[in-house]
Amino acid sequence: MSAEKVRRLVHDRLKRQGCMRRATLASPEAGGPRPTLAVRGCAMRGLKSVAILLVLIGSSLAGGTDGAAKQIRIVFRFDDPSAVSDTEMEVRLIEAFRQYRYCCTWAVIPFRASGDIHDLRPMPVLPLPAEKAEIFAEAVRAGVLEIALHGYSHQSSGLQQGRHSEFAGLGYEEQRSKIERGKEFLEGVMGLPVTIFVPPWNTYDAHTLAALEASGFRLISADARGRPGPGMSLAFLPATCSIAEVREAVAFARAAPDPSPIITVLFHEYDLLEVDASRGVTTFEEFVETLQWLSGQPDVRIVPMAEVTDLNWQRYRDNQRIRMWPLRLPPLIRGGGLPPQVFWSTEGIRNTAYVPRFVLRLVAFYGGIVVFWGVAGFLVAGVVFARRTPAASRFLLSSGPVLFACSLLWAFSGGHFGGRIRMLVAVLGAAAWWAGTRVAWMRRTHCLAASRGTGPAVPGAPEEGIGREGAPA
Ligand SMILES: [Zn+2]
Repeated sequence: MSAEKVRRLVHDRLKRQGCMRRATLASPEAGGPRPTLAVRGCAMRGLKSVAILLVLIGSSLAGGTDGAAKQIRIVFRFDDPSAVSDTEMEVRLIEAFRQYRYCCTWAVIPFRASGDIHDLRPMPVLPLPAEKAEIFAEAVRAGVLEIALHGYSHQSSGLQQGRHSEFAGLGYEEQRSKIERGKEFLEGVMGLPVTIFVPPWNTYDAHTLAALEASGFRLISADARGRPGPGMSLAFLPATCSIAEVREAVAFARAAPDPSPIITVLFHEYDLLEVDASRGVTTFEEFVETLQWLSGQPDVRIVPMAEVTDLNWQRYRDNQRIRMWPLRLPPLIRGGGLPPQVFWSTEGIRNTAYVPRFVLRLVAFYGGIVVFWGVAGFLVAGVVFARRTPAASRFLLSSGPVLFACSLLWAFSGGHFGGRIRMLVAVLGAAAWWAGTRVAWMRRTHCLAASRGTGPAVPGAPEEGIGREGAPA
């Protein structure tokens, strides 16, 4: 990518930011923060654009491929069509996708809970009405829609790690029963097999994955926080961005040296201001403009999930790692990683050389801490041994375990710096401090013995001589 191209990209982005609000993938259904972010100040936008510019330049320096030489695949995932969703808006969306001959993945709730989906008490369910199912089925036959199963009733069964879930935490048999009843119903009203699963609130557990495999599902689309195990036959395609982030995600995918990036756009009806004026992030018109813009991008292809075949748990874990690794460093030195709005291929991650650069940064930061403690121990011990009392010396010599205990407290004090790495650094830092004090002490006793003409002292000798001289060695 040429410098001029990068400049143009960022210029376009700055222009766009003036009129477009941003959204996150955090679902408000989870009872967390609302998905909309307030319009940022100019200063913040400027800073972010500089960060994007650095990422893009970094990517191109790392061997970016020519944008025209690859194909960026985009999957649109629309969650929550059900007995209670806005049919009028759904018809408008179907017509918009039909106009551009795109296929959208519709994650349908077969038996929507009739009340508040966050309420844990039993409540009646509302099956997808036949007339609505026929609208969807017609769109499926026309190639405009692809149907995925979105849970059973979308009613929460409780919180799992702070997030609502319909499935996580339930037993295997119960999960499998709900999944199979939902699948059977949807297949019956749609007249076609349903092999894609979208868990409500993007939450699931190992039982869910086992039940899906046993029930004939091919693919699960949630978010990046799942824990797939090796050897699974399921394909994993996480949502990567909101409808307000599509152009930005395309720019990232185009700039990176990844031959097969995928962008999964997750949206709900409440993301449209016409449906929900308070939670919406874009208007229907702006959404259609985005579809139109995409139709003019020669390297972009809108595909249904069924057509994405290069997915496996390894690719999922690789993406998960590059998202989680930066959290092991303090924010100031995390540097530009691969943006999370794109589901990168394993080859793309390798091409960016992100992993070796990150490992280098990791070693430099944590290695620096260990070295610092070693040098600090040596210097402090050198000064105190020369000037202070034997009691102070003994305190310093025994301070290694004390420091170790303090380090443990630090390591477990929360935050996202990476618990195991911090543990290791705490232990190594304590050892370095202890080694520093030992070296300083041995050097001191060696010098004392030399000044008395009795030769070097034996390491570990009694402390009587320490501190009595009253002058630095
Ligand atoms: Zn949902």
